[in-house]
Amino acid sequence: MSGPVAGTETDAAGWHARAEQLAFPTEAFVDGREVSSVEGTTRPTVDPATGRVLAHVAECGDKDVDAAVRAARAAFERGDWSRAHPRERKAVLLRLASLVEAHTAELALLDSLDAGKLISDTTAIDVPGSAAILAWYAESVDKVYGEVAPTAPTDLALISREPLGVVGAVVPWNYPLEMAVWKLAPALAAGNSVVLKPAEESPLSALRLARLASEAGLPDGVLNVVPGDGPTAGRALGLHPDVDVLTFTGSTAVGKLFLTYAGQSNMKQVWLECGGKSANVVFADTADLDAAADGVCAGIFTNQGQVCSANSRLLVERTVKDALLERVVERARAIVVGDPLDPRTTMGPLVSAEHADRVVDLVESGAAESRTVLGGGGVAGAPSTCFVQPTIFDDVPYDARIAREEVFGPVLAVFAFDDEDEAVRAANDTPYGLAASVWSDSLSRAHRVARRLRAGTVSVNTVDALDVTTPFGGFGQSGFGRDLSLHALDKFTALKTTWVAHG
Ligand code: NAD
Repeated sequence: MSGPVAGTETDAAGWHARAEQLAFPTEAFVDGREVSSVEGTTRPTVDPATGRVLAHVAECGDKDVDAAVRAARAAFERGDWSRAHPRERKAVLLRLASLVEAHTAELALLDSLDAGKLISDTTAIDVPGSAAILAWYAESVDKVYGEVAPTAPTDLALISREPLGVVGAVVPWNYPLEMAVWKLAPALAAGNSVVLKPAEESPLSALRLARLASEAGLPDGVLNVVPGDGPTAGRALGLHPDVDVLTFTGSTAVGKLFLTYAGQSNMKQVWLECGGKSANVVFADTADLDAAADGVCAGIFTNQGQVCSANSRLLVERTVKDALLERVVERARAIVVGDPLDPRTTMGPLVSAEHADRVVDLVESGAAESRTVLGGGGVAGAPSTCFVQPTIFDDVPYDARIAREEVFGPVLAVFAFDDEDEAVRAANDTPYGLAASVWSDSLSRAHRVARRLRAGTVSVNTVDALDVTTPFGGFGQSGFGRDLSLHALDKFTALKTTWVAHG
């Protein structure tokens, strides 16, 4: 999308003025109503760009999660959503998509303030992307058919999809609105009820979305939002005996906990979208090294590197390494780190001081284990400690921490390779397997290498190719769920066989 979005500001002063007037949603949303947490507890939500407390948001615990699950179950049993005519579900979700679009500036500001995301991204990517995904799943509702099995002519076996019931969704902070929508759009389209737990760092847009869903005509109890911390509210949802399916996006360590929670409770289905350490493999037969350099920078510096599929490892054929690195460094130097509400800024703060500390710690380990090409830590004089410089390390040993651990920050590790086998081996040498990129002007090589890379999405001559029409998810410890596309509906439906022996 290009140019300003209707109803949005065009400069920092305009956005700050608008932010001053913004009303923050602070209550949980259960059974169609705004409610305080049962214990009355709240949690401050902080703007990482300034350290300012934006609002005190209801902090849900076990009892709140239980109330939300009961409301979701009651709505499911009532059937005014789960058994509604497909055209009715489609109409409500299309209205919600339109409302999201109509509230672009407000929702974009909520995510930018809450998570430090660039306003230029939230207005152009997060909010319009969320509206488009809602509309796409709305349109799917009356177009997905069942099957008839090829049984004997005396029988009729129908294979249909049924909603599973209550879906628990636990999401991270890097794309607060979009991650929530990736889960709830297909879950609601399929007729389920949802209890959504946003990340503690970024609850505001999800709370606003729930109110917009009500306005769009979603019946009470079908979408509930319970802000709260992971080890309390997230755990309660994971362990709840009346949640049928738990869909999660977040770190691999927490994803593993959800598998345990399911085993300890009701064997609910668990779908995991977890971390990554994606490789960007650039071969010397890439004619357009400028395009490759643009891709390398977009792959690691977008959203401050806080992207699950971030191309945090650059594997480049030795003969073009210097030429490519020179271009990458030139672009990285041009990055403008600063106020995320200024549309001219190209890199904002990380989501929190704790997360920035973790990233700086990894940067220090990178400096000790390899050669620093650019950057190297925090930003002196910044208004908060959440700002980290774009950082590039070269000559990184394959066993260095920055070669193996997900940094989730603007930190690129560079490695040289000499042939195709070595490149594939190095790219696949990770417990993760979310995404990878290949750059080559040889059609044969591009296909051959793409086939050998163990990743849910392989982008050729681009990075992080992604669309609502294609499934997104990982191999290995990046998880096994698939978001987006019609395949996402598999997670939220059960196949039912109805066998009629008619003789
Ligand atoms: P996180 O795992 O710390 O938190 C994710 C969610 O889990 C949050 O809502 C959090 O409150 C909850 N949680 C935390 N501890 C919990 C516990 N003990 N029990 C239950 N719930 C708990 O991840 P994060 O820091 O919010 O996000 C960053 C991670 O998300 C990165 O690893 C990134 O790769 C991953 N991610 C993956 C994808 C994907 O599609 N594969 C997309 C975006 C982000």
